[in-house]
Amino acid sequence: MNNYSPCRQDFDQFMVPIYAPAQPIPVRGQGSRLWDQNDREYIDFVGGIAVNALGHLHPIAVNALLEQGQKLWHLANGFTNEPALKLAKKLIDHTFAEKVFFCNSGAEANEAALKLARKVGLQSGHANKNKIIAFKNAFHGRTLFTVSAGGQPKYSQDFAPLPEGITHLPFNDLDAFKAAITDEVCAVILEPIQGEGGIIVADHDFLKGVRELCHQHKAVLIFDEIQTGMGRTGALYAYQHTSIVPDVLTTAKALGGGFPIGAMLTTTELGQQFVVGDHGTTYGGNPLACAVAGAVFDLINSPEILDGVTIRSQLFIDGIQKLNEQYSVFKEIRGKGLLLGCVLKEEYANRAKEIVNLGVDEGVFSLIAGPNIVRFTPSLIIPEEDIYEGLTRFGCALACFVNQK
Ligand SMILES: *Cc1c(COP(=O)(O)O)cnc(C)c1O
Repeated sequence: MNNYSPCRQDFDQFMVPIYAPAQPIPVRGQGSRLWDQNDREYIDFVGGIAVNALGHLHPIAVNALLEQGQKLWHLANGFTNEPALKLAKKLIDHTFAEKVFFCNSGAEANEAALKLARKVGLQSGHANKNKIIAFKNAFHGRTLFTVSAGGQPKYSQDFAPLPEGITHLPFNDLDAFKAAITDEVCAVILEPIQGEGGIIVADHDFLKGVRELCHQHKAVLIFDEIQTGMGRTGALYAYQHTSIVPDVLTTAKALGGGFPIGAMLTTTELGQQFVVGDHGTTYGGNPLACAVAGAVFDLINSPEILDGVTIRSQLFIDGIQKLNEQYSVFKEIRGKGLLLGCVLKEEYANRAKEIVNLGVDEGVFSLIAGPNIVRFTPSLIIPEEDIYEGLTRFGCALACFVNQK
């Protein structure tokens, strides 16, 4: 067994077949480049799906991991720890939040948010204040509660019976929302930019209207910023581009820069409705994850990196537009910052995955966001030359794509 060298076919033999990974197996990374088992190099425009916000092996993150790795990894919740308290303070100092709950993933952060909102509704004394409004095409994770809150039935229907009381409304439709919200609603959950659902940016007026109606009906407004947070759109959190503030914010993905961690942020008033024993997790807030996240947070929460996102975003948009003048594949580029979606023209409908696969052949990793959209979520500090080189390779993929038809 010691000289066993894994290959891609082993995935099909060993793994529960819920993923269809690309052929190459990356074995190491540096910045925005990856190398596979044959030492072939790739440009990484995926960044672990908006996770590796500082690229691979950022020296400051590596150093935080090594330092904490030699001090203390895990304690469980009978003790608190310094890295968790330091990270909580940073999150509180730089957002609306006054209380933090740490967990290990995005789904767990949303699970905590929805459970908190249910409890707040129950405690309110208002009969049946347990309804949740969510939106079509939303994605909130894969636990049974969060997959039920998500707005793509294909991800939940095989696991019925599902948690009850969740309604899905069309996104960006304030009239539909007005018609649906009542005093029985305890929570409204939405992504400021729907990521998995196709890079759909929430309209400002929609968010503003939802905020006002949530106040009016005393519903907890949850912003799922798991994909949009930690600098992805050029602000620390996307809500900070606006004057609209949620009651609960969930964050994960880039929070640990590649080390698993998630968090639910909220106010004192709401947070204190959870009491000792109400909720928990073994690993949540462990010193190792929090030490790495603390270092990542300080780096990302700086004008150099946040302003750099907007600059890099424009380089991507200009580059893709130029390619599109040549190949005429996309009808729209949308999103914000370094969360960008390229929407295929009707004649190429449902073929985003083919383009992504051709990209791998040409040495560039990209993503889909539904069958019609090629998505880019690269490192927030991707060097300009990697953007140009990656887009050149992506152009080769587009050339193959249009020529093969
Ligand atoms: C990725 C994602 C999640 C789920 O996060 P996990 O860490 O995979 O559980 C939830 N919401 C949004 C918006 C996401 O992008």
